[in-house]
Amino acid sequence: RAGYSTDVINEDLIEENEVVTGKEEVHEFKTETKKLLSIVANSLYSEKEIFVRELVSNAADALEKLRHSQMMDQGLDSGKPLEIHISVDQSKKQFIIQDYGIGMTEEEINDNLGTIARSGSKAFLEKLDKDGSGSKENIIGQFGVGFYSTFMVGNKIKVYTRSAKPDSKGYCWTTDGQGSYSLAEADNVAVGTKIVIELRDDCKQFSSKIEVDSIIKKYSNFVGFPIYLNGGKV
Ligand code: ADP
Ligand code: MG
Repeated sequence: RAGYSTDVINEDLIEENEVVTGKEEVHEFKTETKKLLSIVANSLYSEKEIFVRELVSNAADALEKLRHSQMMDQGLDSGKPLEIHISVDQSKKQFIIQDYGIGMTEEEINDNLGTIARSGSKAFLEKLDKDGSGSKENIIGQFGVGFYSTFMVGNKIKVYTRSAKPDSKGYCWTTDGQGSYSLAEADNVAVGTKIVIELRDDCKQFSSKIEVDSIIKKYSNFVGFPIYLNGGKV
């Protein structure tokens, strides 16, 4: 057993079994998205850990939307429990979060991840234009940057998603945040969303189970769905 860290035993890590089957289509990010991404990626904002809060809150929103639809007549079903699963792997410098929520259609992916749809991000850019570059870090803290906060910590972001709507296909959205993203159909994608972050060298602490466990506890006490980390309930 020499060389094995006890940390790695009994872990239930999320695997990446999805297979890209379709042709990869490259899409440019909108100009304002590019601007936001480059600010976020280059910011010296010190509380990078808030990306965990943002991703957990998006996962909880997606589960809530699925639960809401289940109370309606045309109830959708992911076939999976309403749970959030996070998996970290130090050897791969990876952070993965998966929910079995509402997922996204192809159109929703382009609308939600390719453009700045949320009002918070628009307000962020407006404020930045007004205040100049001196206060970027303050503005990030004040407005939050939602999903785009992943670019504070990741070199490469992959999103596998499949809508809970009947007969939806699975997709793989991927980007290094440098101006474009690619989108392709993929097989073996569960209903819901799985986000895989390849962490930057200076952010590899977010692949430590102990570190991530404490971040989840700090930010996510009020999340209405169970959160699992490497298979264990947080
Ligand atoms: P906000 O949560 O304020 O809308 P975000 O930047 O955090 O803004 O997310 C942008 C959008 O991307 C969300 O509104 C949602 O439509 C979509 N999205 C993000 N994460 C998920 C997810 N896990 N499941 C489904 N949709 C998601
Ligand atoms: Mg959000």
